[in-house]
Amino acid sequence: MPTINDYGAVIGAQALEELLLLGGKLAGKSVLNINSTAVGGGVAEILTRMVPLLREVGVNAKWDVIKGDEHFFAITKSIHNALHGVPAAISDAEFDYFVETNRRNAAEMDLHADFVFVHDPQPVALVEQRQKCGGHWLWRGHVDFSRPDLRTWNFLRHYVELYDGAVFSAPSFARELAIKQLLIAPSIDPLSDKNKELSQPEIDAVLERFAIDPSRRIITQISRFDYLKDPVGVIKAYKMVKRYTDAQLVLAGGGATDDPEGPKVMAEVAAEAAQDKDIFVLFLPPASDLEINALQRASTVILQKSLKEGFGLTVSEALWKGKPVIASAVGGIPLQVAHKFSGILTRTVEGTAYWIKQLIHEPEYARKLGVNGREHIKNNFLITRHIKDYLLAFLSLEHKGDIVHL
Ligand code: UDP
Repeated sequence: MPTINDYGAVIGAQALEELLLLGGKLAGKSVLNINSTAVGGGVAEILTRMVPLLREVGVNAKWDVIKGDEHFFAITKSIHNALHGVPAAISDAEFDYFVETNRRNAAEMDLHADFVFVHDPQPVALVEQRQKCGGHWLWRGHVDFSRPDLRTWNFLRHYVELYDGAVFSAPSFARELAIKQLLIAPSIDPLSDKNKELSQPEIDAVLERFAIDPSRRIITQISRFDYLKDPVGVIKAYKMVKRYTDAQLVLAGGGATDDPEGPKVMAEVAAEAAQDKDIFVLFLPPASDLEINALQRASTVILQKSLKEGFGLTVSEALWKGKPVIASAVGGIPLQVAHKFSGILTRTVEGTAYWIKQLIHEPEYARKLGVNGREHIKNNFLITRHIKDYLLAFLSLEHKGDIVHL
């Protein structure tokens, strides 16, 4: 695994030195991250690299995962969807079960730390323990809160306002709250197995393993099998393109342990894809980072046709690889893609199909979108910027009243 010093080659020696200096100000302080899954989805993706790198800059970072049964994760998935604005009827009994599960977890966890950093709604109610445990408490919402179901948001807000601060990924996600709010965008790790450079033979080996033809165009979407990622919409767009242009479609993704809907979505996708041997529906186990990296690098065009999205790390991953991206103008995606400059933003199946055809027929234009996209990610969405923002956030909690610029 790369060490913190390796990042100097990507961001420059001065930026690296600044990071180490900031880390020094928090040397030995403990930061306990808590979320609801160790694998699958963007939050786990970030923590997997964030925690060791925070340790390397001197912070005593830890990561714990709350536990829950099927009923709990069915409820949290409804809460997740409701916060994204999908209508949901969550009963009082379900909200009670959610809180009870948080309390059961709290009884089994050691929540003592200088900073307790809770990610997403699932563990939000652990904050009931803060008086007992001490420390500064920070909550980070990774979903798009811009138009939430209000009953669900009000339930959540009661707990969020018990924290010292709330972190959101984009200005449009921030809600009116009685506590301090910070805007910190997510990030990708340029040196991880998911994003590091690969040789052509390494890429070809992955294509061969999945029997994908390297000599023909490849259109790809990498995502958990989730309705909000609209995999069926991707297939529909691909089929419209296929009437005029030859291409293969790769839909690759796994599940997350806190997402119970995966198998059902996967079955619908498989049915939609049946009868076209050029559609590759790949269910990837955890730790498929090299495979995802290779599939992205082998692609002619990368899609992210989400109906709702938190940030959409897969977009940054694709742009970092210099790929032309066609993505929905939802959630944090417009932060990453400036339409017709660093990618293409669409809203419909027809729009997606139109732009796939355009980019296939104008490879030079597609290439430029990728070049601009990579530059944008380099300047804004690498993990080193993210670490710096977190360090400043922790410092701002320690030095309440002082001005800390993020
Ligand atoms: N991912 C993965 N394996 C999969 C599907 C997705 O490793 O089978 C990764 C993907 O590369 C990205 C993250 O999981 O790093 C998904 O984050 P994103 O923000 O795109 O969506 P989320 O799943 O959090 O809604």
